[in-house]
Amino acid sequence: MGKLDIVQVPVLSDNYAWLLHDADSGETVAVDPGDAPPLLAVAEARGWQVTAVWNTHWHPDHVAGNRAFEAPVTAPGEEAAKIGRVDHPVTDGDTVAIGAHRAHVMRVPGHTQGHVAYHFADDSVIFTGDTLFAMGCGRLFEGTAVDMFANMERYRALPDNTIVYCGHEYTQSNGRFARSVEPGNQAIAERMVEVDRLRAAGEPTVPTTIGQERATNPFMRATSAEHLGERRVAKDNFTG
Ligand code: ZN
Ligand code: FE
Repeated sequence: MGKLDIVQVPVLSDNYAWLLHDADSGETVAVDPGDAPPLLAVAEARGWQVTAVWNTHWHPDHVAGNRAFEAPVTAPGEEAAKIGRVDHPVTDGDTVAIGAHRAHVMRVPGHTQGHVAYHFADDSVIFTGDTLFAMGCGRLFEGTAVDMFANMERYRALPDNTIVYCGHEYTQSNGRFARSVEPGNQAIAERMVEVDRLRAAGEPTVPTTIGQERATNPFMRATSAEHLGERRVAKDNFTG
């Protein structure tokens, strides 16, 4: 099995969409195309034709570009009515693939009810959309802290070297909050030095890894659903 190429494509104000390319099969997947032109430009420059679209959840900043691709859409079945055309509805336990690279679908509710993550176990890669961010988690628009805590327990169970591709560049504000709730956490302090340097240089701080999140993410580090819920409310009101 050849390498799975993964290209980060910034779209809208702070979203990340992704192009996955498998050279063996020639397949290319657009993950969460909130806006199509930047993805089309990258694909064209590399000589890739987008053969599938995968969405993590229904929010427009993740699906608004779907229509621009003449490609089947894989997305959470329970959110199909909000997404529009969904050719391959998925939920927890399903498997999807690009060439020989297989991804396990995890339903991870809370931000939205049908939200899914795509986990390529053999490639040590996961696409978490708006559930797990670098040093943060998604807002609980359609679910509870119990939901999100369960998601975090599943993410925490993945190998430390798993590379986490998330939906937004929120790391700097997430990190400021993380520092405020765990002021004694040296891993957070050290990571923020690097995050501040990258952002000052206009560089992305995503992807991250499960290991890094285990050490620095206050939501993954929450000890109970109640604890996660308290931290989520505090983050919603955090202005630092
Ligand atoms: Zn969202
Ligand atoms: Fe989003």
